[in-house]
Amino acid sequence: MYESIFNKQKQFFQTKDTMSLDVRIKALKQLKDAIRFYEDDLMFAMRADFNKNESDAFLTEIGIVYSEINFHLKNLADWAEPVNVKTPVTHFGSKSTIYKEPYGVTLIISPWNYPFNLAIAPLVGALSAGNTAILKPSEHTPHVSEVITKVIELAFPEKYVASIEGGIETNQQLLSLPFDYIFYTGSSHVGKIVMEAASKNLTPVTLELGGKSPSIVTKDANLKYAAKRIVWGKFMNAGQTCVATDYIYVDNSVKDQLIKHLKHYTHKFYNKEFEQQNYMQIINDDHFERVHNYIQGDIAYGGRSHKSRRMIEPTIIQNADFSHPAMEEEIFGPVLPVLGYDNLEKAMIDIRDLPDPLALYIFTENDKTAQHVIKSIPFGGGAINDTMYHLATPHLPFGGRGNSGMGKYHGRYSFDTFSHSKSILKQTTLFDIPLRYPTYRKFQKLL
Ligand code: NAD
Repeated sequence: MYESIFNKQKQFFQTKDTMSLDVRIKALKQLKDAIRFYEDDLMFAMRADFNKNESDAFLTEIGIVYSEINFHLKNLADWAEPVNVKTPVTHFGSKSTIYKEPYGVTLIISPWNYPFNLAIAPLVGALSAGNTAILKPSEHTPHVSEVITKVIELAFPEKYVASIEGGIETNQQLLSLPFDYIFYTGSSHVGKIVMEAASKNLTPVTLELGGKSPSIVTKDANLKYAAKRIVWGKFMNAGQTCVATDYIYVDNSVKDQLIKHLKHYTHKFYNKEFEQQNYMQIINDDHFERVHNYIQGDIAYGGRSHKSRRMIEPTIIQNADFSHPAMEEEIFGPVLPVLGYDNLEKAMIDIRDLPDPLALYIFTENDKTAQHVIKSIPFGGGAINDTMYHLATPHLPFGGRGNSGMGKYHGRYSFDTFSHSKSILKQTTLFDIPLRYPTYRKFQKLL
């Protein structure tokens, strides 16, 4: 069913039009203009789908995409230049060059939690590298997906970029096509389905997945800032953020103090929104039930909910341990378990026993401790004394490892992800070196 769009894109890619730097720059500008045109509709759609307010929508969805486009517009000419590299003495007379070339027709599958950003930010990379693209936005945010389609239709002909709305069946049909690259963001479970489908055509993939991302708070941490920055990152978007703190692991000697600050900032930042029923909604009834079930045990703050509005109050659970239901899988909601440790080494072993998290945050005033933690636990990326900020800079690659994904993007890393590095050696015809030909004996002496 979607084969005709795929074939149109394949044919268009083969014209080599998208290889031109001017065409790529124009494409990025057209994308930005089309987003501007539909900015109000996007804000409205985010309200309609899960009550995301206008300032959050701009900060975490639209503004971040504008910055990504601007960064690519500024640097693309540099990134696209062929790079000359050294050539060993055994290759005397020749030159080595790496050319960046687009893969071809790419597929971008995105989730619902940042439905605009996570569909369009990868598209920026695909376009800047010179590919065509088919987007499959999430079926769980139908209003946003509809506006994404309008943005794409305003900016591009179908043969260049297309947005196909639909659910699992649509995805399955798309995944059966021989794409040249697949970029998937979503759960680890579906990540495996995507990778299996891609393997049938040996299509390279980037998988941006999730996991249980801890915040470790040591006894020498600045507890006020730790609490403030954890709370901000955790309860934004009602906890439905892939790099939100999933749980806190804090030194028992400062646990009570930390909880006091956590309660203070949660109340300060989010109480009014919840009281006025203006907090972000949980995406659907199933997820509401799932997250609601985690509210048990020793509740230090919150615990209330409005089922009909799918709203869960930011909730802190103290004295939790690894047997708490919230510790079974990624929480992906506004529930924050706080676990205590007596020994940091032992705490790190507990974290290493879980699948590799997408993010890890370490709060400490001791740089040696921070470095020790960073080097001892495998995870995608993270921050020292902050949460989530690492993903808002185009200079850092963003991606997971193991269960939290493979590959990376943002800024130059997006351009590289969507480009193949073609290595070319140019040999001289001014002379010929006899050493390289049989019987190689003299050549061996060189090594
Ligand atoms: P999801 O994997 O359920 O859905 C993502 C996409 O996959 C959707 O477009 C959906 O239609 C499709 N899909 C769902 N089931 C499918 C199936 N059986 N076969 C084929 N396609 C299928 O993910 P979600 O619930 O939308 O997102 C939540 C997850 O995504 C969390 O684990 C979160 O941590 C992760 N996430 C990761 C990042 C990141 O950048 N690493 C960002 C956001 C979310």
